[in-house]
Amino acid sequence: MSGTSRKVAYVLSSNFSGSTLLALHLAGFENAYLVGEAAYVYRKNKSGDWRHRKFCTPCGTQGRARQCPVWGDDAIEQLRQRPEDYFPILSGRIVEPVGLWVDSSKDLDWILHQKAQGAEPYVVHITKSMQGFIGSHLNRERTKGGLGFQAHLWGKQNLQYANFAQQQGLPYVHVQYEDFVTQPETVLKRIAAFLDEKHRPQAPYWERDMHFVKGNPAAAVAFQPSLAEKQVGLNADLYSDGGRGLFLDEKWKKLLTGDQVKALYSLPMVKKASEKFGYTLPSEAEKAGNTFLLTLQYRLQTSQHAAYSTPRHAY
Ligand SMILES: [Zn+2]
Repeated sequence: MSGTSRKVAYVLSSNFSGSTLLALHLAGFENAYLVGEAAYVYRKNKSGDWRHRKFCTPCGTQGRARQCPVWGDDAIEQLRQRPEDYFPILSGRIVEPVGLWVDSSKDLDWILHQKAQGAEPYVVHITKSMQGFIGSHLNRERTKGGLGFQAHLWGKQNLQYANFAQQQGLPYVHVQYEDFVTQPETVLKRIAAFLDEKHRPQAPYWERDMHFVKGNPAAAVAFQPSLAEKQVGLNADLYSDGGRGLFLDEKWKKLLTGDQVKALYSLPMVKKASEKFGYTLPSEAEKAGNTFLLTLQYRLQTSQHAAYSTPRHAY
């Protein structure tokens, strides 16, 4: 199937930074198809076994992920047996012709692998502010290594994504999560122009027949509103209406003090990345005090942790 499109928009972001939400909206472009975090199909665990068995998030909300018409057991078996036929296998399972694949795997090796197989990659990088990122992690109690360490990783990973695109010579666009949720039409038009695709209003994504891999657990709520009850911490309230609208997530204002935010902004990696991606110290933190203790804590913690472990995969 030589006519299969291999143009792919890879949506990159740190955890909980809006990549799933953005990817769901990019899937609304004409002839676009969201595969989600497709690299999960090929991921293995330490013992060499496949790490995941269920893939499709919308079908998963109905308890039938393994019967999904696109990512069901039979498709996964084919994809794993013939990874080189990834694009034709998927195209064969999708009714409409696909002109643009939207992939939110956030796995740089996966992008290089697909490029080697003839993919035409475009990088769409979305960042949440450092304090927004930390707020999401605090809400999920995922702050291993401490706040300073997490903030350092926020800067490091986002700079790594921008550098990756530059070093690989890939077309790259950056958007702020905060702009996307407050001015979605403007941001989507900008991305459409970057991708040379058409952005046309159509039915909201949760009313469309979509099949995509994984994504932020909150994305499933739009397809199955009763799942809002399972959201953790402050998200339970945020998603009580089904989480279907776009809203600015400002949990950090309830979870961080001004002093903490100011201290985190003083970390070198945070400073560098904030300047690069257009973030400044929020007004709530401007009058805050001493940053010494947190900086010290950060130094101790960064010496004990490796930054990122390489995922195991078989593609
Ligand atoms: Zn499905």
